[in-house]
Amino acid sequence: MMKTIGLIGGMSWESTTLYYQIINRAVAERLGGLNSARIVLASVNFAEIAAMQRAGQWAEMAGLLADNARKLEHAGADCILIGTNTMHKVAPQVQSAIGVPLLHIADAAASAIRAQGLRKVGLLGTRFTMEQPFYAEHLAQFGIEAITPDEALRNEVHRIIFEELCQGKMLDYSRHVLLRIADILAEQGAEGLILGCTELPLLLQQNHTTFPLFDTTALHALAAVDFALQETRTNQATAELQEA
Ligand code: GLU
Repeated sequence: MMKTIGLIGGMSWESTTLYYQIINRAVAERLGGLNSARIVLASVNFAEIAAMQRAGQWAEMAGLLADNARKLEHAGADCILIGTNTMHKVAPQVQSAIGVPLLHIADAAASAIRAQGLRKVGLLGTRFTMEQPFYAEHLAQFGIEAITPDEALRNEVHRIIFEELCQGKMLDYSRHVLLRIADILAEQGAEGLILGCTELPLLLQQNHTTFPLFDTTALHALAAVDFALQETRTNQATAELQEA
């Protein structure tokens, strides 16, 4: 039977809509007809989270996300997704609060990067994701080196995320800034670019550049679909084998 995906969203809701669409479209594509995903969603107030991020209250945020993850597990979730790269800083605390697997966004990014045989990539995201070690260290476990732009450009990417994308503003000017940063990182040896913020794919998509992009929102959402359909697919394969 199809498993239930638990999604902690709202960080921001602009990217949660992408998760909802990508997951449901992939389930419909794979199972056909009117099939859609079993999803339970806990959507938080992002203003509260962003204020705690600015204040560095990571222990409080770990508690809040762990509470939401427990609620989703009680509501029947078979796996949990945290729908933001930044909040994976507290992924270990969230995982230890629940009995079902937390599907890590950087695992999904790392497998896609390794599948293309790349080892050095640019990383764009919030300042927390680019500057604190949790994300780069997670990628390093897969033998992937992540490089980030200089401080002024990191501030600009962070600003675009919070002042524009999380508030539904998609500006051509900002897309050009991101593409310029991609060129700079490529000159420094990056072989591809991680869109390491779940709102970045709202602005920048693979059709805007030939440089390989790793859309963490889509990769994370599709990892959840793989998880949810694992057994279904195995059952289908068994049924097909039995029919043959
Ligand atoms: N959604 C963004 C991310 O993937 C930023 C929002 C946040 O700070 O959680 O990091």
